[in-house]
Amino acid sequence: MDDIAFFDLNAQHAAFGQDIKRAIDSVLARSHLILGPELEAFESEFAAFCGVRFCVGVGSGLDALVLVLRALGIGAGEEVLVPAHTFIATWLAVTQAGATPVGVDVNEDFTINPAALASSITPRTRAIIPVHLYGQPAAMSAISEVAARHGLAVIEDAAQAHGAKFRGRVTGGLGLAAGFSFYPTKNLGALGDGGAVTTDDPQLAARLRRLRNYGSEVKYIHSEQGTNSRLDELQAAVLRVKLRHLAAGNSARRALAARYHEALTALPIALPHTQPEREHVWHLYVIRSAVRDDLAEHLRHQGIGSHIHYPIPPHLQVALANLDYRAGAFPVAERMAAEVLSLPFWPEMDPVLTERVATSIAQFAAEDVT
Ligand SMILES: *Cc1c(COP(=O)(O)O)cnc(C)c1O
Repeated sequence: MDDIAFFDLNAQHAAFGQDIKRAIDSVLARSHLILGPELEAFESEFAAFCGVRFCVGVGSGLDALVLVLRALGIGAGEEVLVPAHTFIATWLAVTQAGATPVGVDVNEDFTINPAALASSITPRTRAIIPVHLYGQPAAMSAISEVAARHGLAVIEDAAQAHGAKFRGRVTGGLGLAAGFSFYPTKNLGALGDGGAVTTDDPQLAARLRRLRNYGSEVKYIHSEQGTNSRLDELQAAVLRVKLRHLAAGNSARRALAARYHEALTALPIALPHTQPEREHVWHLYVIRSAVRDDLAEHLRHQGIGSHIHYPIPPHLQVALANLDYRAGAFPVAERMAAEVLSLPFWPEMDPVLTERVATSIAQFAAEDVT
């Protein structure tokens, strides 16, 4: 039997590669490569998709979050609450802005625990960055309530949740601002790096447009020390094509997740928790197992790809040792890091393959009678 990949972009490129090539050709014909009409069009299309007034295209998902923090004037001596189970970029955005990330443990649904927020708030706290991890929105009502009570900004890390919904409202419009990534494997991915901020706040959007472009609105007039982080015309043109297929891709992901759920439900592994009133877009399909490493090894022997998102939580990374966290600081997040396993998953995946993966896991469970 053929191996089962963990992820596959070729199917997507086969399906609408011709449209992507046409979009690239039109940029080539125009020779306008930075801050041009494709970016403007993508920004208004993605803002509409998210149900917000403004979208500002930037160089990456990390930059999107860093620039929001900078635009809000959050920096040295100030604190930002971040989930303890996430990709390290959420934490690095805060340190790059010059502020201090303060970890908060997560729930069984992998998102930040709203009940644990209040005890982490100090007079220096300025913002909360909930992450819609793996594609499921965080508990935005409870988070917004705490934020409102303490005068904090809510900045969504929506890098894994393009098109997900909380009580019918799309991510990107659930806080003061949101950071998106268009890294190629994300639900909406470019042919390279890219990112965007969405917001309803006109002042914030205007400041972000300056910050991404050397602090300049008018060429060679600089009102502040900005950076260079712009979503380029080629990526914007590609993203405009892919945005038209995003809803269908998310539906295919939902159907695959349901199929996995059915095939795996009787097995001794923990399946992803889906919360009511939230529309999950299944960036990843993540199970948990107390014998995760042995299970991953078993799958690998059978030619089945899997990944761990993420094996070491940010607070225990050497890169962030200066924050002085110890093992045991966030018990749920640390257990997640030890137990999570992402199964093969991409929108064009043949649904039948979910059953082959399930059969392999069942076989492992039958052998592993420890
Ligand atoms: C991918 C990702 C980012 C960073 O996006 P880049 O475009 O790679 O910089 C931030 N947060 C989360 C949760 C991500 O998955």
